[in-house]
Amino acid sequence: MKCRSCGARAAVEVRRHNSAFCPQCFLSYCRNQVARAIDEHKMLQRGERVLVAVSGGKDSLALWDILLDLGYDADGLYIGLGLAGYSEPSGEHARAFAAGRQAKLLEVDLPADFGYDVRTAAAADRRTPCSACGLSKRHIFDRQAVDKGYDVVATGHNLDDEAAVLLGNLLHWDLAYLARQRPVLPAGDGFPRKVKPLVRLAERETAAYCVLRGIEYQVEECPMSAGNRHLGYKDALDAIEERSPGTKAAFYHGFLERGGALGAGVAEEERKGLHPCPNCGAPTVSELCAFCRLVARAAGRPRRRLPVSSGAGL
Ligand code: AMP
Ligand code: ZN
Repeated sequence: MKCRSCGARAAVEVRRHNSAFCPQCFLSYCRNQVARAIDEHKMLQRGERVLVAVSGGKDSLALWDILLDLGYDADGLYIGLGLAGYSEPSGEHARAFAAGRQAKLLEVDLPADFGYDVRTAAAADRRTPCSACGLSKRHIFDRQAVDKGYDVVATGHNLDDEAAVLLGNLLHWDLAYLARQRPVLPAGDGFPRKVKPLVRLAERETAAYCVLRGIEYQVEECPMSAGNRHLGYKDALDAIEERSPGTKAAFYHGFLERGGALGAGVAEEERKGLHPCPNCGAPTVSELCAFCRLVARAAGRPRRRLPVSSGAGL
C-alpha cells in the first residue's frame, strides 16, 4: 500500500478515509485533523493559555504534543487518583513527556492533597468508581484552570470515546447529557471553556501517533474500568465499524451537524440557580458542591490501596 500524500510505502492505514500514510505523512495527518477540529469548532484562539488534562495515556499525551507543535501555549495537569500500581506509572509517563519537551506540568494528588482515593470515595459516597473519579477530575480541572488563570481546559477524548458516549446517551435518551456532549463548552459562571480537540482522531490513530513519535504512555486500562458500560458501547461500535468503516465518524459528526436541537435549553436551565459553593467556590445548585460532599464523606475513612491485579468491577 502506498502513502496517499507522497506515494512512499505506507505504514498506517486509516480505513474510514480509505487511505494509508507513511510515518511522516501520518503525523501530518494527525496534526491536520486536530487543527481542523480546533478551527471548525472555534476551540482555541492564538495566545490563550491552555491547560491540557494529561492522564499519562496515549490520547492526552498525543494531544499535548500536537498542541505544542501547533504553537499553542499549553501546560499539562496530571491528577494522581491513588490507584496503586496504576497511578504511579501514569504520572511517570506524564512527567517524562513534560521533561522531554520542557513543558510545564501541574500535579494534584487525591490522597496527598485531599486525603482520599477514588475507590474509598466511591464507597463512601455510594457512587460507582467511575462516577467518583469523573466528579473529582472535572472539579479539579475547573478549579485549577480558574484559580491559575487558564482560558481553557483541553481533554483527550477521541472519536471512539465520543461516539460511545453518544450511543449511551441516545440509548437512555439522556437529554441533559446530550445537550452537554459538545466538543466545546463555553466558559461561564465559574467554569472555564472546555474543548476536545481529538474528536476527529480514532483511538488507534492516537496510539500509532505516540508510537511513531516515540512517546511512552500508560498502556494498561484503568483497573477500575472493568465492566464499565461505555466499554460495551465501544465494542458494539467497533463491530459495526469493522463491517462498515466510517460509520462511527458519520454517527458522531452527524450528531454535531444535525442533532443540535436535542436537549436544547436543558443546559441553560441547568445553569439557572447556580451559586458558589461556600467551601470551595465552585458553582453549584446545592448547599455544598458535590465534590466537597464527596471529600467530606471520604475523609476519615481508612484508605484502601487497590492492586492493579484485582481488576475490580463496578
Ligand atoms: P477518561 O475519562 O479516562 O477516558 O479520560 C478522558 C480524558 O480526561 C483524558 O484524555 C484526559 O484528558 C483526562 N484525564 C483522564 N484521567 C486523568 C488524570 N488522572 N489526570 C489528568 N487528566 C486526566
Ligand atoms: Zn465545593
